[in-house]
Amino acid sequence: MTGTPWHVDVLTLFPEMFPGPLGHSLAGKALESGIWSLEATNIRDFAHDRHRTVDDTPFGGGAGMVMRPDVLEEAIRAVSPPGRCIYLSPRGRLLTQALVKELAAEEHLVLLCGRYEGVDERVLEACNIEEVSVGDYVLSGGEPAAMILMDACIRLLPGVMGNTETPDEESFEDGLLEYPHYTRPAEWTDASGTLRPVPDILLSGHHANICAWRRARAEDITKTRRPDLWQNHSQATTTRKIRKQK
Ligand code: SAM
Repeated sequence: MTGTPWHVDVLTLFPEMFPGPLGHSLAGKALESGIWSLEATNIRDFAHDRHRTVDDTPFGGGAGMVMRPDVLEEAIRAVSPPGRCIYLSPRGRLLTQALVKELAAEEHLVLLCGRYEGVDERVLEACNIEEVSVGDYVLSGGEPAAMILMDACIRLLPGVMGNTETPDEESFEDGLLEYPHYTRPAEWTDASGTLRPVPDILLSGHHANICAWRRARAEDITKTRRPDLWQNHSQATTTRKIRKQK
């Protein structure tokens, strides 16, 4: 990752949505201190008619409208210098922590937010645009997806997280979900009268045992909640072992 600010150009029909939640807390402070910067551009500014039309009916029929390639291309080409261009799309490569790290290491991203039925396919090819999805569900627009992508990247930028927060131990590092957390009071009785003590091991002060317990919990949670992640993790561990033996 470089020391230069991380810049994002967002192309959207709703520039007023930005920075939105990213103007608060960790991301907001980092924005204020210049660790990252943002420019939200209204795609409608590139429309060709006095009605500022950006969409049209789909060839081949069907409900809904499609965003025009000519208007989108002009909006994309107006971004200078051109950055790595991503169209937020349910069809895209799934946004994982590995992809987040890759994108946080870029200096400049251009995020294209779709609306309606999406964008004309030809602009994706013409402008060499990657597609990224934030999950297997359909949002009404690309803006919340762009915010998710940015939020996940911003917290990895140098200087954003304090020393007390450790990205190395979070979910998805090493392919595992995170272990459970506990804080004061050590003994807590919930509203139903059930006493819920913190696991003894966490009060023992024995660092190595605590690490081993946390690791075991992370593995249990991953196995039961995300067998897909657990399978990848197990395969990666086996491959590492074989490599070491060679
Ligand atoms: N017709 C599209 C489909 O079935 O795949 C859905 C279009 S959606 C209503 C409008 C816009 O929301 C999309 O163009 C895209 O930019 C954004 N969007 C929706 N779901 C998304 C997701 N899971 N990840 C990223 N962007 C998404």
